[in-house]
Amino acid sequence: MPKYQKIMRKLISHPGSGIKMLRKLTDRHRKCCVECGVIGHLHVHHTDKRGIRTYQCQMCNKTFAETYGTIFYKSKIPISSWMLAIIFWVTATGSISAADLGRKLGVSHVTAWKMLMKIREKLSDGLGEEMLEGLVEADEAWFGRKNNQDIIMGIVERKNRKIRLVTIPNVKEETLYPHIQKNVKEGSRFFTDSRITYSITGIRYHHQTTNHSKGEFAKKGGVHSNTIEQIWGDIKGIIRTIHHGISQKYRKLYLAQYAFSYQFKHSTNLFYKTLCQLFSPTYCLI
Ligand SMILES: [Zn+2]
Repeated sequence: MPKYQKIMRKLISHPGSGIKMLRKLTDRHRKCCVECGVIGHLHVHHTDKRGIRTYQCQMCNKTFAETYGTIFYKSKIPISSWMLAIIFWVTATGSISAADLGRKLGVSHVTAWKMLMKIREKLSDGLGEEMLEGLVEADEAWFGRKNNQDIIMGIVERKNRKIRLVTIPNVKEETLYPHIQKNVKEGSRFFTDSRITYSITGIRYHHQTTNHSKGEFAKKGGVHSNTIEQIWGDIKGIIRTIHHGISQKYRKLYLAQYAFSYQFKHSTNLFYKTLCQLFSPTYCLI
């Protein structure tokens, strides 16, 4: 992983440099008091031995750590290890298992699992809620078996690689349509297979289908749903080969992590995007 070698070397040789690097790489600093919300009246009260600053608000006197409200707050894991974990994840093929991460970081399997779950949780907040537009595909997939099963509806915007993965109770028209309406801008081109329950989408979208049951997978003019089909294949492959199955309780978080990496892996620096999502101390938290 030559891209991050320099950063990794520094994090390993100077574990105390984590917070400094985090600040520098994300260019994010506390500007807002977590108690009274006033902006621009914070001064550094003290800096602990790990380099983490405690700020004091000059208006209300509240003191708080710069990591307050992030996954690094009061964490026993050094920030350098969190950053290494993210590098191992973004450079892995598909994803990384807790067992593998634990070995790489020299922490227990349970600790590595907790770290990954905290990261997933925070990434799931970072997917945004803008409408998808342009060329959009949708499909449903079944995950797990019997009591551990979910039906997931996937909607993907081809150009900007935005995905919405929604758990749905069934594939009836009245279940699917509100999610489409909520997530896809009116007037978009909308591609699905020829499932009858998608017929209503023709009202708001330019809806075109391919009939998979007749062996038709693409038509002229970019009419296909191969992008979302590929996404299902990727996610199922990751769950099967890297995580060896996951429980229904946590499925949503694994899906969110996939959606985040799918969106940012090709267009921008996923490592940087992830750091910014996990370390957002400029925001007011009240
Ligand atoms: Zn204050």
